Amino acid sequence: MDHFTYRNFDLCCEQVSLRTLAADVGTPAYVYSKAALLENYRAYDAAFAEVPHLVCYSVKANANLGVLATLARAGAGADIVSGGELFRALRAGFPPSTIIFSGVGKTRDELREALKAEILMFNVESLSELRTLDEVAREMGVRAPVALRVNPDVDPQTHPYIATGLKTSKFGIPFAQALEAYADAASLKGVEVVGADIHIGSQLTKASPFADAVARIAALVKTLRERSIEIRTVDVGGGLGIRYRAEAPPTHREYATVLLPALRELGVRVLLEPGRSIVGNAGVLLTRVLYRKQTGEKTFVVVDAAMNDLIRPVLYDAYHEIRPVTEARPGVPGETVDVVGPICESGDFLAKGRELARTDEGDLLAVMSAGAYGFAMASNYNTRPRAVEVLVDGNRYTIVRRRETYEDLVAGESAL
Ligand SMILES: *Cc1c(COP(=O)(O)O)cnc(C)c1O
Repeated sequence: MDHFTYRNFDLCCEQVSLRTLAADVGTPAYVYSKAALLENYRAYDAAFAEVPHLVCYSVKANANLGVLATLARAGAGADIVSGGELFRALRAGFPPSTIIFSGVGKTRDELREALKAEILMFNVESLSELRTLDEVAREMGVRAPVALRVNPDVDPQTHPYIATGLKTSKFGIPFAQALEAYADAASLKGVEVVGADIHIGSQLTKASPFADAVARIAALVKTLRERSIEIRTVDVGGGLGIRYRAEAPPTHREYATVLLPALRELGVRVLLEPGRSIVGNAGVLLTRVLYRKQTGEKTFVVVDAAMNDLIRPVLYDAYHEIRPVTEARPGVPGETVDVVGPICESGDFLAKGRELARTDEGDLLAVMSAGAYGFAMASNYNTRPRAVEVLVDGNRYTIVRRRETYEDLVAGESAL
Protein backbone atom coordinates (compact mmCIF):
# COMPACT_ATOMS: atom_id res chain seq x y z
CA MET A 1 0.00 0.00 0.00
CA ASP A 2 1.18 3.55 -0.74
CA HIS A 3 1.26 5.57 2.45
CA PHE A 4 1.91 8.86 0.65
CA THR A 5 -1.22 9.87 -1.25
CA TYR A 6 -3.17 12.99 -2.14
CA ARG A 7 -6.34 13.69 -0.18
CA ASN A 8 -8.25 16.66 -1.41
CA PHE A 9 -5.18 17.99 -3.29
CA ASP A 10 -3.07 17.68 -0.11
CA LEU A 11 -0.19 15.18 -0.14
CA CYS A 12 -0.46 13.17 3.06
CA CYS A 13 1.73 10.75 4.97
CA GLU A 14 -0.87 8.28 6.19
CA GLN A 15 -3.57 10.67 7.45
CA VAL A 16 -1.30 13.62 8.21
CA SER A 17 -1.20 16.47 5.71
CA LEU A 18 2.36 17.39 4.81
CA ARG A 19 1.25 21.01 4.42
CA THR A 20 0.05 21.09 8.03
CA LEU A 21 3.12 19.24 9.16
CA ALA A 22 5.44 21.74 7.44
CA ALA A 23 3.59 24.58 9.16
CA ASP A 24 4.07 22.84 12.53
CA VAL A 25 7.68 21.61 12.35
CA GLY A 26 9.22 23.69 9.56
CA THR A 27 11.30 22.61 6.59
CA PRO A 28 13.43 20.86 5.55
CA ALA A 29 11.91 17.87 7.34
CA TYR A 30 12.21 14.12 6.99
CA VAL A 31 8.83 12.45 7.38
CA TYR A 32 8.49 8.69 7.90
CA SER A 33 5.40 6.48 7.79
CA LYS A 34 5.26 3.96 10.60
CA ALA A 35 2.75 1.85 8.68
CA ALA A 36 5.09 1.66 5.69
CA LEU A 37 8.03 0.62 7.88
CA LEU A 38 6.05 -2.14 9.52
CA GLU A 39 4.53 -3.30 6.25
CA ASN A 40 7.96 -3.64 4.64
CA TYR A 41 9.39 -5.50 7.64
CA ARG A 42 6.41 -7.85 7.84
CA ALA A 43 6.59 -8.57 4.11
CA TYR A 44 10.07 -10.03 4.67
CA ASP A 45 8.97 -11.91 7.75
CA ALA A 46 6.04 -13.46 5.90
CA ALA A 47 8.05 -14.29 2.78
CA PHE A 48 10.56 -16.35 4.82
CA ALA A 49 8.01 -17.80 7.24
CA GLU A 50 8.60 -21.38 6.16
CA VAL A 51 12.23 -21.43 7.39
CA PRO A 52 13.74 -20.38 10.72
CA HIS A 53 14.80 -16.80 10.07
CA LEU A 54 15.53 -13.38 11.52
CA VAL A 55 15.21 -10.11 9.64
CA CYS A 56 18.04 -7.91 10.91
CA TYR A 57 17.34 -4.37 9.78
CA SER A 58 20.48 -2.67 8.47
CA VAL A 59 20.78 0.26 10.86
CA LYS A 60 22.95 2.35 8.56
CA ALA A 61 20.08 2.98 6.14
CA ASN A 62 18.27 5.05 8.75
CA ALA A 63 19.50 4.98 12.33
CA ASN A 64 16.87 7.18 13.97
CA LEU A 65 15.90 5.78 17.38
CA GLY A 66 12.19 6.10 16.58
CA VAL A 67 12.63 4.07 13.42
CA LEU A 68 14.78 1.51 15.23
CA ALA A 69 12.41 1.17 18.18
CA THR A 70 9.45 0.67 15.82
CA LEU A 71 11.23 -2.22 14.12
CA ALA A 72 12.61 -3.67 17.37
CA ARG A 73 9.10 -3.80 18.86
CA ALA A 74 7.84 -5.54 15.73
CA GLY A 75 10.39 -8.32 16.27
CA ALA A 76 13.19 -7.35 13.89
CA GLY A 77 16.86 -7.79 14.70
CA ALA A 78 19.59 -5.30 13.78
CA ASP A 79 22.58 -5.41 11.47
CA ILE A 80 25.21 -2.92 12.66
CA VAL A 81 28.50 -1.71 11.21
CA SER A 82 30.00 0.35 14.06
CA GLY A 83 30.17 0.79 17.81
CA GLY A 84 27.91 3.80 17.43
CA GLU A 85 25.28 1.66 15.75
CA LEU A 86 25.63 -0.92 18.53
CA PHE A 87 24.91 1.86 21.03
CA ARG A 88 21.86 2.98 19.04
CA ALA A 89 20.55 -0.56 18.55
CA LEU A 90 20.76 -1.33 22.27
CA ARG A 91 19.26 2.05 23.17
CA ALA A 92 16.36 1.39 20.79
CA GLY A 93 15.61 -1.92 22.49
CA PHE A 94 16.95 -4.59 20.15
CA PRO A 95 17.81 -7.66 22.26
CA PRO A 96 21.58 -8.30 21.93
CA SER A 97 20.74 -11.82 20.76
CA THR A 98 19.27 -10.26 17.58
CA ILE A 99 22.23 -8.05 16.69
CA ILE A 100 24.74 -8.90 13.95
CA PHE A 101 27.98 -6.93 13.56
CA SER A 102 29.09 -6.47 9.94
CA GLY A 103 31.74 -4.22 8.41
CA VAL A 104 35.24 -4.37 7.03
CA GLY A 105 37.06 -2.31 9.68
CA LYS A 106 35.86 -3.07 13.19
CA THR A 107 38.24 -1.72 15.83
CA ARG A 108 39.37 -3.65 18.91
CA ASP A 109 37.26 -1.39 21.08
CA GLU A 110 34.21 -2.05 18.94
CA LEU A 111 34.81 -5.80 19.04
CA ARG A 112 35.14 -5.64 22.82
CA GLU A 113 31.93 -3.63 23.24
CA ALA A 114 30.01 -6.08 21.08
CA LEU A 115 31.42 -9.11 22.92
CA LYS A 116 30.50 -7.52 26.21
CA ALA A 117 26.96 -6.97 24.94
CA GLU A 118 26.79 -10.66 23.87
CA ILE A 119 25.49 -10.02 20.39
CA LEU A 120 24.26 -12.78 18.08
CA MET A 121 27.32 -12.89 15.82
CA PHE A 122 30.16 -11.19 14.03
CA ASN A 123 30.36 -11.18 10.25
CA VAL A 124 34.12 -11.30 9.79
CA GLU A 125 35.58 -9.87 6.60
CA SER A 126 39.29 -10.77 6.68
CA LEU A 127 41.82 -13.10 8.25
CA SER A 128 43.38 -10.17 10.10
CA GLU A 129 40.04 -9.32 11.64
CA LEU A 130 39.51 -12.97 12.54
CA ARG A 131 42.81 -13.08 14.44
CA THR A 132 42.09 -9.82 16.20
CA LEU A 133 38.63 -10.98 17.24
CA ASP A 134 40.10 -14.25 18.49
CA GLU A 135 42.63 -12.35 20.60
CA VAL A 136 40.12 -9.91 22.04
CA ALA A 137 37.68 -12.70 22.88
CA ARG A 138 40.37 -14.79 24.59
CA GLU A 139 41.48 -11.78 26.63
CA MET A 140 37.89 -11.49 27.81
CA GLY A 141 37.58 -15.22 28.44
CA VAL A 142 34.73 -15.66 25.94
CA ARG A 143 34.18 -17.19 22.49
CA ALA A 144 32.98 -14.99 19.67
CA PRO A 145 30.24 -16.44 17.45
CA VAL A 146 31.42 -15.91 13.90
CA ALA A 147 30.27 -16.05 10.31
CA LEU A 148 32.73 -15.36 7.53
CA ARG A 149 31.58 -12.89 4.93
CA VAL A 150 32.49 -14.48 1.66
CA ASN A 151 32.75 -12.48 -1.53
CA PRO A 152 31.00 -14.60 -4.14
CA ASP A 153 32.23 -12.54 -7.11
CA VAL A 154 28.88 -11.90 -8.74
CA ASP A 155 27.92 -8.70 -10.51
CA PRO A 156 24.92 -7.14 -8.76
CA GLN A 157 24.35 -4.81 -11.74
CA THR A 158 23.95 -1.72 -9.62
CA HIS A 159 25.78 1.59 -9.19
CA PRO A 160 29.54 0.89 -8.76
CA TYR A 161 29.67 2.69 -5.38
CA ILE A 162 27.11 0.29 -3.92
CA ALA A 163 28.33 -2.92 -5.58
CA THR A 164 30.15 -4.98 -2.94
CA GLY A 165 30.19 -8.56 -4.20
CA LEU A 166 32.69 -8.31 -7.04
CA LYS A 167 36.16 -9.69 -6.51
CA THR A 168 37.60 -6.20 -7.01
CA SER A 169 35.67 -4.92 -3.98
CA LYS A 170 37.14 -4.41 -0.51
CA PHE A 171 34.37 -6.46 1.06
CA GLY A 172 34.40 -10.03 2.23
CA ILE A 173 36.89 -12.87 1.96
CA PRO A 174 37.59 -13.89 -1.64
CA PHE A 175 35.68 -17.04 -2.56
CA ALA A 176 38.91 -18.82 -3.47
CA GLN A 177 40.29 -18.24 0.04
CA ALA A 178 37.10 -19.14 1.90
CA LEU A 179 37.88 -22.79 2.70
CA GLU A 180 41.28 -21.92 4.08
CA ALA A 181 39.80 -19.08 6.12
CA TYR A 182 37.18 -21.40 7.62
CA ALA A 183 39.84 -23.97 8.49
CA ASP A 184 41.76 -21.18 10.21
CA ALA A 185 38.69 -19.99 12.08
CA ALA A 186 37.84 -23.51 13.23
CA SER A 187 41.28 -23.84 14.83
CA LEU A 188 40.98 -20.70 16.95
CA LYS A 189 39.99 -20.95 20.62
CA GLY A 190 38.48 -17.48 20.83
CA VAL A 191 35.98 -17.90 18.03
CA GLU A 192 33.19 -20.31 17.30
CA VAL A 193 32.26 -20.75 13.64
CA VAL A 194 28.49 -20.69 13.31
CA GLY A 195 27.64 -19.27 9.92
CA ALA A 196 28.34 -18.01 6.45
CA ASP A 197 27.50 -14.57 5.13
CA ILE A 198 27.18 -12.70 1.84
CA HIS A 199 26.12 -9.19 0.89
CA ILE A 200 26.65 -8.36 -2.76
CA GLY A 201 25.45 -4.80 -3.06
CA SER A 202 22.60 -2.39 -2.74
CA GLN A 203 19.63 -1.32 -4.87
CA LEU A 204 19.58 -4.60 -6.80
CA THR A 205 16.66 -4.68 -9.19
CA LYS A 206 17.16 -8.17 -10.59
CA ALA A 207 16.79 -11.48 -8.81
CA SER A 208 19.48 -13.37 -10.71
CA PRO A 209 22.56 -11.98 -8.85
CA PHE A 210 20.95 -13.03 -5.54
CA ALA A 211 20.33 -16.50 -6.98
CA ASP A 212 23.94 -16.79 -8.19
CA ALA A 213 25.35 -15.65 -4.85
CA VAL A 214 23.20 -18.02 -2.83
CA ALA A 215 24.12 -20.94 -5.09
CA ARG A 216 27.80 -20.21 -4.44
CA ILE A 217 27.38 -19.92 -0.68
CA ALA A 218 25.27 -23.10 -0.57
CA ALA A 219 28.02 -25.02 -2.37
CA LEU A 220 30.54 -23.66 0.11
CA VAL A 221 28.42 -24.70 3.11
CA LYS A 222 28.19 -28.24 1.73
CA THR A 223 31.95 -28.47 1.26
CA LEU A 224 32.50 -27.14 4.77
CA ARG A 225 30.19 -29.76 6.19
CA GLU A 226 32.14 -32.47 4.41
CA ARG A 227 35.15 -31.14 6.29
CA SER A 228 33.27 -31.25 9.60
CA ILE A 229 32.79 -27.50 9.83
CA GLU A 230 29.15 -27.17 10.79
CA ILE A 231 27.37 -24.12 9.44
CA ARG A 232 24.09 -23.38 11.21
CA THR A 233 23.19 -19.96 9.82
CA VAL A 234 23.36 -18.42 6.39
CA ASP A 235 23.15 -14.64 6.20
CA VAL A 236 22.00 -13.59 2.75
CA GLY A 237 22.74 -9.89 3.33
CA GLY A 238 20.57 -7.04 2.16
CA GLY A 239 20.44 -5.16 -1.08
CA LEU A 240 16.95 -5.65 -2.44
CA GLY A 241 16.15 -2.56 -4.51
CA ILE A 242 13.19 -0.23 -4.32
CA ARG A 243 11.30 1.72 -6.94
CA TYR A 244 12.67 5.24 -7.25
CA ARG A 245 11.50 5.81 -10.80
CA ALA A 246 10.72 3.03 -13.24
CA GLU A 247 12.63 0.18 -11.63
CA ALA A 248 10.72 -3.02 -11.06
CA PRO A 249 12.68 -4.80 -8.33
CA PRO A 250 11.59 -8.25 -7.21
CA THR A 251 8.89 -8.26 -4.54
CA HIS A 252 9.72 -9.71 -1.12
CA ARG A 253 7.97 -12.87 -2.17
CA GLU A 254 9.81 -13.14 -5.48
CA TYR A 255 13.07 -12.54 -3.65
CA ALA A 256 12.25 -15.31 -1.18
CA THR A 257 11.22 -17.65 -3.98
CA VAL A 258 14.66 -17.26 -5.55
CA LEU A 259 16.55 -17.86 -2.30
CA LEU A 260 14.48 -20.42 -0.45
CA PRO A 261 15.12 -23.64 -2.41
CA ALA A 262 18.87 -23.60 -1.69
CA LEU A 263 18.40 -22.44 1.91
CA ARG A 264 15.70 -24.99 2.69
CA GLU A 265 17.92 -27.78 1.48
CA LEU A 266 20.75 -26.65 3.79
CA GLY A 267 18.43 -26.65 6.78
CA VAL A 268 19.99 -23.49 8.19
CA ARG A 269 18.61 -20.54 10.09
CA VAL A 270 18.35 -17.70 7.58
CA LEU A 271 19.48 -14.19 8.46
CA LEU A 272 18.58 -11.19 6.33
CA GLU A 273 20.03 -7.68 6.44
CA PRO A 274 17.68 -5.42 4.49
CA GLY A 275 17.98 -1.67 4.90
CA ARG A 276 16.77 0.33 1.92
CA SER A 277 13.84 -1.97 1.15
CA ILE A 278 12.46 -1.46 4.67
CA VAL A 279 12.85 2.27 5.08
CA GLY A 280 13.45 3.77 1.62
CA ASN A 281 9.88 4.15 0.45
CA ALA A 282 8.70 4.87 4.00
CA GLY A 283 10.17 8.38 4.04
CA VAL A 284 10.11 11.70 2.20
CA LEU A 285 12.12 14.88 2.46
CA LEU A 286 9.82 17.86 2.75
CA THR A 287 11.21 21.14 1.45
CA ARG A 288 10.01 24.64 0.63
CA VAL A 289 10.76 26.70 -2.47
CA LEU A 290 12.83 29.75 -1.53
CA TYR A 291 13.37 31.34 -4.91
CA ARG A 292 12.88 30.94 -8.61
CA LYS A 293 15.75 31.90 -10.80
CA GLN A 294 15.87 32.18 -14.55
CA THR A 295 19.17 32.26 -16.38
CA GLY A 296 19.40 32.43 -20.13
CA GLU A 297 19.71 28.68 -20.24
CA LYS A 298 17.76 27.29 -17.37
CA THR A 299 15.12 27.65 -14.73
CA PHE A 300 16.30 26.95 -11.21
CA VAL A 301 14.01 26.24 -8.31
CA VAL A 302 16.02 27.01 -5.17
CA VAL A 303 14.69 25.05 -2.18
CA ASP A 304 15.62 24.99 1.52
CA ALA A 305 16.87 21.37 1.43
CA ALA A 306 20.33 20.73 0.05
CA MET A 307 23.00 18.13 -0.60
CA ASN A 308 23.86 18.14 3.09
CA ASP A 309 20.32 16.84 3.73
CA LEU A 310 20.20 14.39 0.81
CA ILE A 311 23.47 13.57 -0.91
CA ARG A 312 22.21 10.67 -3.04
CA PRO A 313 21.58 12.68 -6.23
CA VAL A 314 25.18 13.91 -6.50
CA LEU A 315 26.84 10.87 -4.90
CA TYR A 316 25.10 8.12 -6.84
CA ASP A 317 23.44 10.01 -9.68
CA ALA A 318 20.28 8.99 -7.91
CA TYR A 319 16.81 9.90 -9.10
CA HIS A 320 14.22 10.93 -6.54
CA GLU A 321 10.71 11.70 -7.67
CA ILE A 322 9.61 15.20 -6.64
CA ARG A 323 5.94 15.85 -6.00
CA PRO A 324 4.17 19.11 -5.25
CA VAL A 325 2.67 18.95 -1.75
CA THR A 326 -0.40 20.73 -3.10
CA GLU A 327 -1.46 18.61 -6.06
CA ALA A 328 -1.27 20.49 -9.34
CA ARG A 329 -4.72 21.29 -10.72
CA PRO A 330 -5.36 19.93 -14.18
CA GLY A 331 -4.16 22.38 -16.79
CA VAL A 332 -1.32 23.88 -14.73
CA PRO A 333 1.57 24.20 -17.19
CA GLY A 334 4.66 22.09 -16.67
CA GLU A 335 8.23 23.31 -16.88
CA THR A 336 11.68 21.79 -16.95
CA VAL A 337 13.76 22.88 -13.97
CA ASP A 338 16.79 22.12 -11.85
CA VAL A 339 15.83 21.77 -8.20
CA VAL A 340 18.83 23.02 -6.23
CA GLY A 341 19.75 23.85 -2.66
CA PRO A 342 21.50 26.83 -1.05
CA ILE A 343 24.94 25.19 -0.73
CA CYS A 344 27.98 26.63 -2.45
CA GLU A 345 28.67 23.63 -4.71
CA SER A 346 27.50 22.89 -8.22
CA GLY A 347 26.84 19.37 -6.98
CA ASP A 348 24.13 20.73 -4.75
CA PHE A 349 21.03 19.57 -6.58
CA LEU A 350 18.08 17.34 -5.83
CA ALA A 351 16.97 17.02 -9.47
CA LYS A 352 18.27 18.16 -12.83
CA GLY A 353 16.29 18.80 -15.99
CA ARG A 354 13.14 17.70 -14.21
CA GLU A 355 9.66 18.18 -15.61
CA LEU A 356 7.52 19.60 -12.79
CA ALA A 357 4.23 21.45 -12.59
CA ARG A 358 4.97 25.17 -12.25
CA THR A 359 5.99 25.95 -8.65
CA ASP A 360 6.27 29.33 -6.97
CA GLU A 361 8.14 30.75 -4.03
CA GLY A 362 6.72 29.41 -0.79
CA ASP A 363 5.39 26.18 -2.36
CA LEU A 364 6.19 22.88 -0.70
CA LEU A 365 7.77 19.92 -2.48
CA ALA A 366 8.16 16.34 -1.33
CA VAL A 367 11.30 14.47 -2.37
CA MET A 368 10.02 10.90 -2.47
CA SER A 369 11.66 7.63 -1.39
CA ALA A 370 14.15 9.45 0.81
CA GLY A 371 13.82 7.27 3.92
CA ALA A 372 17.02 5.30 3.28
CA TYR A 373 20.50 6.85 3.13
CA GLY A 374 18.88 10.27 3.41
CA PHE A 375 19.17 11.67 6.91
CA ALA A 376 21.65 8.88 7.66
CA MET A 377 24.16 10.51 5.28
CA ALA A 378 23.29 14.10 6.19
CA SER A 379 26.05 16.47 7.28
CA ASN A 380 26.42 19.97 8.64
CA TYR A 381 28.24 21.26 5.56
CA ASN A 382 27.87 25.03 5.20
CA THR A 383 27.02 24.98 8.93
CA ARG A 384 23.48 23.93 8.19
CA PRO A 385 21.59 22.39 11.09
CA ARG A 386 20.34 18.93 10.22
CA ALA A 387 16.64 18.58 9.49
CA VAL A 388 13.91 17.59 11.93
CA GLU A 389 12.71 13.95 11.66
CA VAL A 390 9.06 13.06 12.16
CA LEU A 391 7.39 9.68 12.48
CA VAL A 392 3.75 9.57 11.42
CA ASP A 393 1.34 7.02 12.86
CA GLY A 394 -2.18 7.27 11.44
CA ASN A 395 -3.43 10.79 12.11
CA ARG A 396 -0.72 11.62 14.64
CA TYR A 397 2.96 12.34 14.45
CA THR A 398 5.96 12.39 16.77
CA ILE A 399 9.13 14.42 16.40
CA VAL A 400 11.71 11.62 16.63
CA ARG A 401 14.63 14.01 16.22
CA ARG A 402 14.32 17.73 16.71
CA ARG A 403 15.86 20.13 14.26
CA GLU A 404 19.44 20.94 15.25
CA THR A 405 20.13 24.36 16.72
CA TYR A 406 23.16 26.57 16.08
CA GLU A 407 24.29 25.74 19.62
CA ASP A 408 24.18 22.03 18.75
CA LEU A 409 26.49 22.77 15.85
CA VAL A 410 29.27 24.22 17.98
CA ALA A 411 28.81 22.00 21.03
CA GLY A 412 32.11 20.22 21.55
CA GLU A 413 34.16 22.91 19.80
CA SER A 414 36.47 25.40 21.42
CA ALA A 415 37.28 28.97 20.33
CA LEU A 416 40.54 28.75 22.37
C1 LIG B 1 24.51 -1.65 3.62
C2 LIG B 1 24.47 -3.07 4.03
C3 LIG B 1 23.24 -3.75 4.09
C4 LIG B 1 21.94 -3.12 3.68
O1 LIG B 1 21.85 -2.87 2.32
P1 LIG B 1 20.49 -2.35 1.68
O2 LIG B 1 20.79 -2.17 0.26
O3 LIG B 1 20.17 -1.05 2.36
O4 LIG B 1 19.45 -3.38 1.92
C5 LIG B 1 23.25 -5.04 4.54
N1 LIG B 1 24.40 -5.67 4.92
C6 LIG B 1 25.59 -5.05 4.86
C7 LIG B 1 26.80 -5.77 5.27
C8 LIG B 1 25.67 -3.73 4.42
O5 LIG B 1 26.86 -3.13 4.36
